[in-house]
Amino acid sequence: MKITRRKLAALAMQAAAVQAQAPGERPQKSGDVQVLNPRNKVPVSLLIDDSTCLVNLAHFGIPHFAEAYPDRYLQDWRKLPREIPDSFVREFGEWTRENGVKGKYSIVPYPACVGWVDRDMPGWSRKELTDSLSLVRTLIAPNWDIHPEMITHTWVIDTKTGRPFPERTERFMENFGWSQDKSADEIANYMAYALRILKNAELPCEGITTPGGFAGRRLVELSKATLQACKDVYQTEIPHYFRHAILDSRSVAPRVENVRGLNSSDPQCVVSIIACTGDWYGGWDGLVTPALDKMITADSKAGRMAEVIERGEPAIMMCHWPGIYCNGQKDGFHTLKEVHKRLKAGYGDRFEWMKIGDIARYWAAKELTAISKEGNRVKLRAPYACPDFTLKISGRNVRGVKIGNAMAKAKVEQDGVVVIFDLAKGETSLELV
Ligand SMILES: [Zn+2]
Repeated sequence: MKITRRKLAALAMQAAAVQAQAPGERPQKSGDVQVLNPRNKVPVSLLIDDSTCLVNLAHFGIPHFAEAYPDRYLQDWRKLPREIPDSFVREFGEWTRENGVKGKYSIVPYPACVGWVDRDMPGWSRKELTDSLSLVRTLIAPNWDIHPEMITHTWVIDTKTGRPFPERTERFMENFGWSQDKSADEIANYMAYALRILKNAELPCEGITTPGGFAGRRLVELSKATLQACKDVYQTEIPHYFRHAILDSRSVAPRVENVRGLNSSDPQCVVSIIACTGDWYGGWDGLVTPALDKMITADSKAGRMAEVIERGEPAIMMCHWPGIYCNGQKDGFHTLKEVHKRLKAGYGDRFEWMKIGDIARYWAAKELTAISKEGNRVKLRAPYACPDFTLKISGRNVRGVKIGNAMAKAKVEQDGVVVIFDLAKGETSLELV
């Protein structure tokens, strides 16, 4: 295949764009102390896009996309079910709870302009909507971060009137044109509108998922806007967002961006969570055959997940809810069960499923905690608290680690000690004994 110069330039721009975020402040680190993965296990997670209450976004979204791009969206949307039923949400939620599978689950607030999740969903009774929300709150939210995916995932809403703009082109779609020339404040205003609907619906939320190409040419603004909107509406301590998937050899570790006020009482940062796969489940329309072996092969030795886990970086998959349901065939869901089985067979307890908000907090603490070592003392100054903070401290003849007067949970190794403890915000002092 010939790679044109234009294609090369586009790839370089894309690579640069992911890196182009302002990282902001960074603290002092000690070469003798290394922050390991949480509990010394590789985090694994699943990002589910395009989910909401009751509405099958593929059925209602395709005719909108087809209005903007008539020759690109030819799926026979009338044949797709209008609903992804709560019986399936329950089945999925119970299986993932039993198996400890975690990640992010979108709730599109006004899916394809069908109805508002905090008011009415035309086509369903009031009770069906409130039952659906309660199912998300009780069964899904404990193990899955809830995100809006902007407001409609299709037409842009005029936030002054709550109605879609009249123009019917890609310029007024959330996925495509609209956001590409907007300021951080304008994007934040739009995000805040989406977040307020989830808040009205009494859903917890600490982050945002971008629909399709949203803000693809406004990455710096996107990062700032996420920070601003999540702080405004939910007073989120560590906001995070999902925009990027990286499928090549570059790092897929979360990026801690726009850090400021590290030494103040109100430190700020936002974390970009990066997927390491494409959607290899059932596609955004539920019409794609899953590619299980691309994630992990039957012998658990190859595939993208195996590659990233071996590297020790968070291995975060992405998929779409219509593709987990696959129009009732549940192909994506069966694929997830198999991925989980293969991961367990290949990696046992070397990996652990985590919510992405917990991964974001861990990475913020990992990157932003100041660490110094003098003699047998390690001093930490943490802008954020973090459960199960895991350090490797170099040193010979160490028997353990004391925090205050108590011995910490530690594993002595030949060249040092691995210690796991709940990091408190502020100063902590560890003593090697
Ligand atoms: Zn989406």
